[in-house]
Amino acid sequence: MMNSGRLAPVGDPTGCCSLRVAVAATRPAAQLPGWRDATRVRGVRAALRGSPPLVASGEVDLLSARLAAVARGAAFVLLGGDCAETFAGNTDAHLRGNLDLLARMAAELGRRSGLPTVGVARMAGQFAKPRSAATDADGLPVYRGDMVNGLAAEPAAREADPDRMLRAYRASSTAIDFLRASGHGRVFTAHEALVLDYEQALLRREPSAGWAPYSGSAHFLWIGERTRDLDGAHIAFAELVANPVGVKLGPHTTPEEAVEYVRRLDPHRVPGRLTLISRMGSRRVRDVLPAIIEKVSASGHAVVWQCDPMHGNTVTSATGHKTRYVDQVKDELTGYFEVHRGLGTFPGGVHLEMTGDDVTECVGGGVAESDLGARYETACDPRLNPAQAWEIATLVADLIPT
Ligand code: PEP
Ligand code: MN
Repeated sequence: MMNSGRLAPVGDPTGCCSLRVAVAATRPAAQLPGWRDATRVRGVRAALRGSPPLVASGEVDLLSARLAAVARGAAFVLLGGDCAETFAGNTDAHLRGNLDLLARMAAELGRRSGLPTVGVARMAGQFAKPRSAATDADGLPVYRGDMVNGLAAEPAAREADPDRMLRAYRASSTAIDFLRASGHGRVFTAHEALVLDYEQALLRREPSAGWAPYSGSAHFLWIGERTRDLDGAHIAFAELVANPVGVKLGPHTTPEEAVEYVRRLDPHRVPGRLTLISRMGSRRVRDVLPAIIEKVSASGHAVVWQCDPMHGNTVTSATGHKTRYVDQVKDELTGYFEVHRGLGTFPGGVHLEMTGDDVTECVGGGVAESDLGARYETACDPRLNPAQAWEIATLVADLIPT
């Protein structure tokens, strides 16, 4: 599908949406880069505002329709890809490997469950990372994703360089061109909406939708566990975009908070508008998730429930690698499906960090702790390799209610 070309930037100061964007931007924002050159940030934002959107509003509407079907229990969603995309990794081989794996898994889930399975790629924009500490073990500013700074352990590389937002836009554009040419053109794109300078500059108003601001950066955006403060700028940003949005819910989420997300982010009660992505950890999911689902269900909003079984199960191996055990990933998934079965609600999807490259980053499925150093290639969190991801797909296919 090609861009419609009808979208107008929200930058017009007379536009209603400009005001809402400006108000959203005044909220406190966690995890934003300390850019080294504020004047240059303005120039980059202006350049992005003048650039074509990467996705068309019609494509976004199509995903919204698909997610409405998921919210009704009539379809399933598989979202997956790198934790952190990199400019160096934006190659034919890497993009093709990730996309083919996603498409093969979605096809398998669809075939075995009998439910249409919507493939959503963590691709073409997943270039920014929230971090739990501001500095790394060497005392350097932490790596925040290629959209912000460089991974190399050198002070100059770790400076937050606004021009990287333009490089991220161009890399995303290349990836989305690849995606459209790949034959998987119904695969949608998604990333965490983190760097608001970038995301706000890529909002585009759609005249045929009452000038609603669509994100032109991806079809689906989510707000991460570290930026989901109800009074913060990220949730205010998610509130105003017309695209379907998600919020990650960690193990400390209360049912009351979850209902507040639903009220704020789905005020018009549109089925599938909001995806709640639980990432509780295998030990907590069975205790914490039921009360959240019960309270959200009682609110009457039709959300998509998605399980991210990766981020609550990150540990450090004896070899010093940040890793995940496939058994714990499977256990969180099993718990998630059990909880939904017990409540009679629909477990709408899964969200995985995985790659088509044969990496050794997670333990299980033939990778031992002592193997982790062999092909540990991630720029951030450990990803499932194709064999491990396929093992997960097989489990999920058995668990999807039919
Ligand atoms: C991620 O998806 O890479 C991520 C950082 O997740 P979370 O916000 O759930 O920690
Ligand atoms: Mn991650």
